[in-house]
Amino acid sequence: MSENEKKTEAAKLKEKLAAKKPSGALSLEPEIIAKADEFCEGYKAFMNTSKVEREAVNTTEKIAVEHGFEKYDINKKYSAGDKVYVINRGKNIGLAVMGKNGVKNGVKLVIAHIDSPRLDLKPNPLYESNDLAMFKTHYYGGIKKYQWTTIPLSLHGRIVRLDGEIVDVAIGDCDDEPCFCVSDLLPHLAKEQVTKPLAKAISGEDLNVLIGSRPFNNDKESEQVKLNILNLLFEKYGIIESDFLSAELNLVPAFKARDVGFDRSLVGAYGHDDKVCAYPGVIAACEAEMPESTVITFLCDKEEIGSDGNTGMQSAFLRDFIADLAQADGVEYRHVMAKSKCLSADVNAAFDPTYASAFEANNASYLNGGVIITKYTGSGGKYDTSDASAEYMGYIRRMLENNKILWQTGELGKVDIGGGGTIAKYIANLNVDVVDLGVPVLSMHAPFEIVSKVDVYMTYLAFAAFFAN
Ligand code: MN
Ligand code: MN
Repeated sequence: MSENEKKTEAAKLKEKLAAKKPSGALSLEPEIIAKADEFCEGYKAFMNTSKVEREAVNTTEKIAVEHGFEKYDINKKYSAGDKVYVINRGKNIGLAVMGKNGVKNGVKLVIAHIDSPRLDLKPNPLYESNDLAMFKTHYYGGIKKYQWTTIPLSLHGRIVRLDGEIVDVAIGDCDDEPCFCVSDLLPHLAKEQVTKPLAKAISGEDLNVLIGSRPFNNDKESEQVKLNILNLLFEKYGIIESDFLSAELNLVPAFKARDVGFDRSLVGAYGHDDKVCAYPGVIAACEAEMPESTVITFLCDKEEIGSDGNTGMQSAFLRDFIADLAQADGVEYRHVMAKSKCLSADVNAAFDPTYASAFEANNASYLNGGVIITKYTGSGGKYDTSDASAEYMGYIRRMLENNKILWQTGELGKVDIGGGGTIAKYIANLNVDVVDLGVPVLSMHAPFEIVSKVDVYMTYLAFAAFFAN
């Protein structure tokens, strides 16, 4: 009797009709897993020099130049295979590889964001209290505030002095540099604090950062500890207190990206959301050779606070760049957009067995389940989202299956339990087909987020296939 004859009627019908449960990393050859591990070495290196968006742009520009990209020149005539990049205000970068058909049949877009939740300094941040020097902060993006206390923080960003001089700051990530910290109340005295709801136990105004404790000298002047910090800042950066007003300074976790688990299958880092999609997008663009239509990987900013502003996805910058490409090809921008396709490259929440009740198991993404397609995000009955069409889902599914890419689909948690959004809706509003596709993340928006190496690699393969098809 052959294998097939042994099967019951029901088993045969099931095999034909029922959806197959994704088998995850189990189904992968050891060579694929080795490639995933190797890919993530590059990813970890990218993470360690890309804590904030300006740094991510600088790192990406370096990678792009190494792969033959040149700064886009509107007056230059480009031909198929040419690689160009554009930068917007140091906080967005777009890598384009010119297609054989240019942009007349649309462009292929992979868009990820390079901003992540963090603590920003207030415009007037520096103060002294009880002989300690502190920074006042205003948190950026959706955070659980208690997670940001008692961890080492580093300071990144830019100060523009009154004389116009630009000072870039990155301090606290290296072992020989000082770091900074938000204090928390000891449990012995926290009897009242620990009975408060989680959202209220630590307030936004409690996120004050300790930056020093020694006075300048023993003169009878007030606020000597603050003065000492001002003196050190002047010596190191040439800045005075009022220069904080024209600065963008961000406190981020001082951790490096590192392997997690005895089997080293996972990567823990600050800011996987969404650099874990940005990096695969960058590499896919770097490796795109002679695509049919022009392909663009674009890294945006301000996603975590609503995509507003001139470096957010609601800015005209990317649209205008595509309009320039359309004009160069002698076609109308609007006709290009109507034929364009986009992957909104963003993360989704990985199923967490400890918090299983937040997820609906049939529609959740899992670590090692592969790249996750999220048809829609939003909340409260699909509000505030772009819901990808059946046709576009069909196109993406075919592409993933034909290229043997491990993939899964899921929603962001149970219905009505919360929700979130991505840049997909802003791209959809430009008359472009778009769906979210990216990496499942554990502990999203925490100072130390976790992803699977296999999922990161599958996301890269998905972007490469998207650009190639
Ligand atoms: Mn995101
Ligand atoms: Mn996010």
